[in-house]
Amino acid sequence: MARPSKKILATLLALAWLGSAASTASAAVSLVLPTANTNLFVPGAEEHYFVGTVGREWPSGSFGCVRSEGWQLHEGIDIKALERDRRGEPTDPVLAVADGVEVCTVYAHLREIAEGVRVGAVVRMGQQIGTLGRTANTRSGISKDRAHLHLEVALFLNKKFPQWHASRMPGARNDHDMFNGQNLAGFDPARLFQEHRRLGAQFNLVRFIQSQPELCRVQVRDTNFEFLKRYQPLVTKRSESAVDGVAGYEIVFDYAGVPMQLIPLAAGELKSKARVNLLSVNEAVQQAHRCRKLVVKRSGRWELASGGERLVDLLLY
Ligand SMILES: [Zn+2]
Repeated sequence: MARPSKKILATLLALAWLGSAASTASAAVSLVLPTANTNLFVPGAEEHYFVGTVGREWPSGSFGCVRSEGWQLHEGIDIKALERDRRGEPTDPVLAVADGVEVCTVYAHLREIAEGVRVGAVVRMGQQIGTLGRTANTRSGISKDRAHLHLEVALFLNKKFPQWHASRMPGARNDHDMFNGQNLAGFDPARLFQEHRRLGAQFNLVRFIQSQPELCRVQVRDTNFEFLKRYQPLVTKRSESAVDGVAGYEIVFDYAGVPMQLIPLAAGELKSKARVNLLSVNEAVQQAHRCRKLVVKRSGRWELASGGERLVDLLLY
């Protein structure tokens, strides 16, 4: 896979960011905004930063349950173009927001991709990776005035996603391979930049990820899944004596489906014989962010909805 299809450029960078952020409580993390638009940091200037969907106000271009009357998740932010050429086409350079990140950043709708930038390439923070545009894979397309950068910052659920997809959905098309939206658990990039700016050198990526609103906790009888090894900093450290032989994990999910914390458990702490067991649901969070539909209440009891089952299945695959 040399060039990403449909001008959706996904850059997967190296490991350092998440690792170093966890190793010391106050490890500085460097971040830059992906375009010259800085209205994100100007109180009250949101409409100059986010691009709403057709006929909608700016919140529909922010992260979260902001689409389809709150029933659809927008898993990134849509950032307004600032610069135009004579024909009104956007020309804003798009920059890599960080370097050394085992977090996937997706930059969509680009007009063109910079020379030498391809999947797997290591890019440095602030390096130009492309030009803002309005390319899209939908029939309706994006009008000139709505030209924007769609930015996602996400964790990979499983590097074996293509195999999982082929085994669970035989014959179905897998758009964007590893970067398929089903394999990316995203958090709010706007909040990420704002918190980073607010906290400066005190900003810590792990703490940021773990500060998302908690939706539910799931206990799994599995100690050998790929996410666990790749995102070690998200695993809570417990003393050897507390967990004498890890037999499973309690996984804390945010409302968007990010496995934000993994707590090792000893055999005696596992509450069920089942491989996957929903432990708790934060009802207020579920009500405030209902679009992801990871859990559902049936006859007064919370259960994993099919979307939640699929998420855990992919995570453990
Ligand atoms: Zn978008």
